[in-house]
Amino acid sequence: MTVVTRFAPSPTGFLHIGGARTALFNYLYARHFGGRYLIRIEDTDRQRSTEEAIAAIRDGLAWLGLEGDEPAIFQSRNATRHAEVARQLLADGQAYRCYMTTAELDAEREAARAEGRPVRIRSPWRDADPSEAPAGIDPVVRIKMPREGKTTIADKVQGDVTIDHEQLDDFILLRGDGSPTYMLSVVVDDHDMGITHVIRGDDHLTNAFRQYHLYKLCGWEPPVFAHIPLIHGPDGAKLSKRHGALGVDAYREMGYLPEAVKNYLLRLGWAHGDDEVISEAQAIDWFDLPQVGRSAARFDFAKLENLNGHYLREAEDARLTNLVVERLSRERTLDDVATTRLRDGMGGLKARANTVAQLAESAIFYIDRPVFPLENPKAAKLLSGGGAAVAREAGSALRDLDRWLEEDIEARLRRFAEEKEIGFGKVAQPLRAALTGSNASPGLFEVMAILGREETLARLARTPDHD
Ligand code: GLU
Repeated sequence: MTVVTRFAPSPTGFLHIGGARTALFNYLYARHFGGRYLIRIEDTDRQRSTEEAIAAIRDGLAWLGLEGDEPAIFQSRNATRHAEVARQLLADGQAYRCYMTTAELDAEREAARAEGRPVRIRSPWRDADPSEAPAGIDPVVRIKMPREGKTTIADKVQGDVTIDHEQLDDFILLRGDGSPTYMLSVVVDDHDMGITHVIRGDDHLTNAFRQYHLYKLCGWEPPVFAHIPLIHGPDGAKLSKRHGALGVDAYREMGYLPEAVKNYLLRLGWAHGDDEVISEAQAIDWFDLPQVGRSAARFDFAKLENLNGHYLREAEDARLTNLVVERLSRERTLDDVATTRLRDGMGGLKARANTVAQLAESAIFYIDRPVFPLENPKAAKLLSGGGAAVAREAGSALRDLDRWLEEDIEARLRRFAEEKEIGFGKVAQPLRAALTGSNASPGLFEVMAILGREETLARLARTPDHD
């Protein structure tokens, strides 16, 4: 059997982080077993589905490299087929037309509430003679669910889950206007797409029992179900915005790399020993459902940032330069000189940043001259008490250097410190502040070499005292 999985988002908002994890698990499961991974956009709720949401979800999936193996299926386009299946069930006696009025339905709900039990519609039309049907009512079509006994689903993550048929009611397949319900559409599409494994959030677990019986009544083999626990915040409560319940686009904007987000999401609820850094090839090799935990995973920004730092340091300088250029050029125009400096400096910069946002922020000095007086108090202090004068004098001392190379710059500055009889730190720190506006930066000689002689000397010469 070829494994076929799917990610089936409802396009009512962005691709949130929980959805991205569901997509990832489906993708990895299919890859692990050499199967196919498909996307279905569940856009049957025309009121709530929007084009923007579809675009945002597809962008998010593309960014993560989790687009389907085939063009996405749009559920709304299959409505005729869904209705056909319902009509077949009706013809086979597995479903019935229900003429209950709004008042009757309300009375059922009210009675359930009064008795403190969940609402389960028991329609008299299940066994009624259709010839008694009242005129002038557009009936809904309900499924005939079993009323006695129990069903056990062997969920790949939750284990065996059993439900008493008493708890299931005859849910609606077709509305009064003949349109199919979500429950029907999901099952028909999953069947028609050949889905073998349904891996999704455990908020759909109760739906699985309804869907299971719908499969059975259609004479189809139900898929394997795997319901994965939701993602919670670090405090164990439902994930809030502050704790990471954001769209994938927000993570991109915060400066996370897609491979880091994927690695982090993989670890969120799935484990392979103590491994933290897991490449995509390893993930495909190792991923299976038994290692998915049953309890809610806790989202932790600090861990994500840590992992991101790892992937940032592994990323190619040219790629990071493009990402930084894209960010920095939102507020300024970058010329070739600026881009070259960024590319040359990327190795030193990426060693000190955990996100692309931090990387871009820390790279600004390669483009813009520091604004004096410096805002950063630690850096400003380095230019007080004679620090700025040291920076200016060091600049003069460097003017006659033959070659503007890191080792020559270093040798000349060390001699300068000796001549002035001050420790080398007393020279290097004010220089760093004068050149970068900060007290922390990549190696000083590297910075000077990349800025070039002219720019370095110009920056040093204009450094004012900060007293
Ligand atoms: N469209 C549903 C959702 O976004 C998923 C349904 C399913 O996976 O069966 O929650």
